[in-house]
Amino acid sequence: MKPIKIGIVGVGKIVRDQHLPALAANADYQLVCAASRNATVDGVSNFTTIDNMLAEVRDLDAVSLCMPPQNRYDAARKALLAGKHVFLEKPPGATVSEVADLLKLAGQNNVSLFASWHSRYAPAVEAARAFLQTVQIRSARIIWKEDVRRWHPNQDWIWQAGGLGVFDPGINALSIATHILPPMFVSSAILHFPSNKDAPVAAMIEFRNAIGAPVTMELDWLQTGPQSWDIIAETDNGRMVLSSGGAALSINGSTVQQHAEREYPALYEKFAKLVREKASDVDLSPLQHVADAFMLGRRVAVAPFYD
Ligand code: NAP
Repeated sequence: MKPIKIGIVGVGKIVRDQHLPALAANADYQLVCAASRNATVDGVSNFTTIDNMLAEVRDLDAVSLCMPPQNRYDAARKALLAGKHVFLEKPPGATVSEVADLLKLAGQNNVSLFASWHSRYAPAVEAARAFLQTVQIRSARIIWKEDVRRWHPNQDWIWQAGGLGVFDPGINALSIATHILPPMFVSSAILHFPSNKDAPVAAMIEFRNAIGAPVTMELDWLQTGPQSWDIIAETDNGRMVLSSGGAALSINGSTVQQHAEREYPALYEKFAKLVREKASDVDLSPLQHVADAFMLGRRVAVAPFYD
């Protein structure tokens, strides 16, 4: 089978850390071009806009859109209308409705749209899901606490409206929770906004569900020292702890699974399959929960944030 000729747009941290190595290691792809205003990728054709890239690289099959979410819709629309398969970094867009519109466009243009949720591909997530399907869940806690200065230095977009603030990592937790827990709905939220920012630095969210098992989520972006990316479920068969962002699973204190992570290689394997089948995979539920938290959330002004 011929490799999928792919271009990458928005060359920043995640492209260099994950996309370029994952693409280089996968024979299903040939990275042929990149579009970024200030950065280039070695060994491929480089452009400063997606418009020029789409106009000049005639045999391009697919694009990966890795710019901040506030700028993703316009680029995705152009790519889909040009007949390209589209891989969206998480979160797939700035609003739920714009991503729904992209899904419709993908169908109309007979190409694939992939709303990638990298944390869902963490190594212990499927084992956690399988365990939870065999037990009665009594309650669950999602605890996602990290140091924004360490993981997102100088990223202005993340603090702007639509950048999601602490929900940028929090949506990774939700992408796992919506995959392993029964359907749930935000019932209340408290959002802490630094007085000089347009996005929250912390959030406490409560969810309800049809099985009457309360789910809470605690997000904090000012945690120094050990970082917490955990989902803990109390069940009729003991306590399940999915930790390290989905990399490790323990049940009643015994480690069940702990493997090296390969989220982005798995994402690109999935995208290749979607492209070959001309199928789409767009689950909006993590983004919908974030939107609901913003809609229901009580806002509290807290101390200003400085990098
Ligand atoms: P980043 O380092 O800021 O890179 C994004 C790139 O997009 C920038 O370098 C910039 O390159 C381009 N861009 C285009 N329009 C922009 C605008 N208006 N403002 C700022 N940059 C713009 O961000 P990132 O960490 O790679 O994150 C990008 C996406 O990947 C986000 O949706 C994020 O949630 C997701 N993600 C990030 C991580 C992570 O660990 N960092 C992990 C998983 C997913 P040019 O200036 O050259 O155009």
